[in-house]
Amino acid sequence: MTTTNTSSISAGFAELSDPGAELGKLLSGAYPDARGRFGPFGGRFVPETLWGAVTRLEKVAKEALADPAFIDELTYQQRHWVGRPTPMMHAANLSARWGNGCQVWLKREDLAHTGAHKINNALGQALLAKRLGVQRIIAETGAGQHGVATAAACARLGFPCRVYMGAKDVERQQPNVQRMKWFGAEVVPVTSGDATLRSAIDEALRHWVGDPLGTHYLLGSAVGPHPFPWLVRTFQSVIGSESRVQMLEQAGRLPDAVFSCVGGGSNAIGMFHGFLGDAGVQIFGAEAGGQGVGAGLNAATMASGRPGVLHGCYSYLIQDGAGQVARTQSISAGLDYPGVGPEHSFLHAIGRVRYVPVLDADALSAVREVCLGEGVLPALEPSHAVAAARAWVQENPGKVVLINLCGRGDKDMPILMKNL
Ligand SMILES: *Cc1c(COP(=O)(O)O)cnc(C)c1O
Repeated sequence: MTTTNTSSISAGFAELSDPGAELGKLLSGAYPDARGRFGPFGGRFVPETLWGAVTRLEKVAKEALADPAFIDELTYQQRHWVGRPTPMMHAANLSARWGNGCQVWLKREDLAHTGAHKINNALGQALLAKRLGVQRIIAETGAGQHGVATAAACARLGFPCRVYMGAKDVERQQPNVQRMKWFGAEVVPVTSGDATLRSAIDEALRHWVGDPLGTHYLLGSAVGPHPFPWLVRTFQSVIGSESRVQMLEQAGRLPDAVFSCVGGGSNAIGMFHGFLGDAGVQIFGAEAGGQGVGAGLNAATMASGRPGVLHGCYSYLIQDGAGQVARTQSISAGLDYPGVGPEHSFLHAIGRVRYVPVLDADALSAVREVCLGEGVLPALEPSHAVAAARAWVQENPGKVVLINLCGRGDKDMPILMKNL
């Protein structure tokens, strides 16, 4: 585990000198501010041609979220199509296995329709697309989960759908490529750049520029230009709000610590928002440590990055000495991204959330433990959160921990069969 010297980070940003006041601004809704910023992070670094689309999206989203008819429709679809609320499960065997008096709880987002949290955001934005009056939806995908969720939402709501996916990911996530096609989506392999998620987002943004008002770009994580980080978080916050109620009901108390994996950061920010205001709840984001931070290739953005601009926002970013976006690597396609959502950079800088890198090998052993202990096959991404929690309870006796099990592992079968 690494600890973050937050005072030195905050010192780099004059506006973050009072972390308590900054958190207050976030919780009161003053952030994101009018420029789409969380302190110094975020913003809207887009070409002129996209300005109309992103400002329209912000306006329509704010109207929709204040409209009871929209909320009713969203709630109806969440309940009957997605399967919400997802269960909160006490992991008794995992708790006993880890020992040290810990009690482990798993938020079962893997049981949401299409097998991960991605559907929460895909559904919300697809409903918004109806209000926007667009004719088609495009999306990017990494592990394929967002592509599948978007394709499913488009099938249900009647939109033509095209999904950009890195050629490398097309290869390592075949089952999801098939599922997207069965839901009627066109899957476009992207061979430029690193041929993973980052290039897929580049490509989707490029195509959006061609038809900004007739197409909705259904971005899959809490990244990108404002309003996306806020919008995606809003739709994913259902994870945290449900979890908070379920912990109080089932455990009779709030957790001591909450763990989520962080790729772009959507499942994590949705979970974290349920607990950011509870000073007694420690919050941890598990990043992809890959083969090691410092030594090998990784995708641990907070641990190895520094602030820069990627995909329309200012946030932590893994870059080389010349400021070029650097190559990343993780065993999980969903975490293999050099950037991170701006709200996470803010929470890192004010020290409210601690971000810890988790090695590929530790995530793999966590997959095994959850399988053997609980009869649940987790995706590789949340297995990073499981491994981070496992390490933390060894040093902190008698703790109640909540882990966001944000996806199921069926999509990872080919990789797991090679590595386990
Ligand atoms: C996409 C995905 C992730 C990474 O995305 P976030 O936006 O960081 O949540 C993590 N876990 C699963 C299961 C995913 O499908």
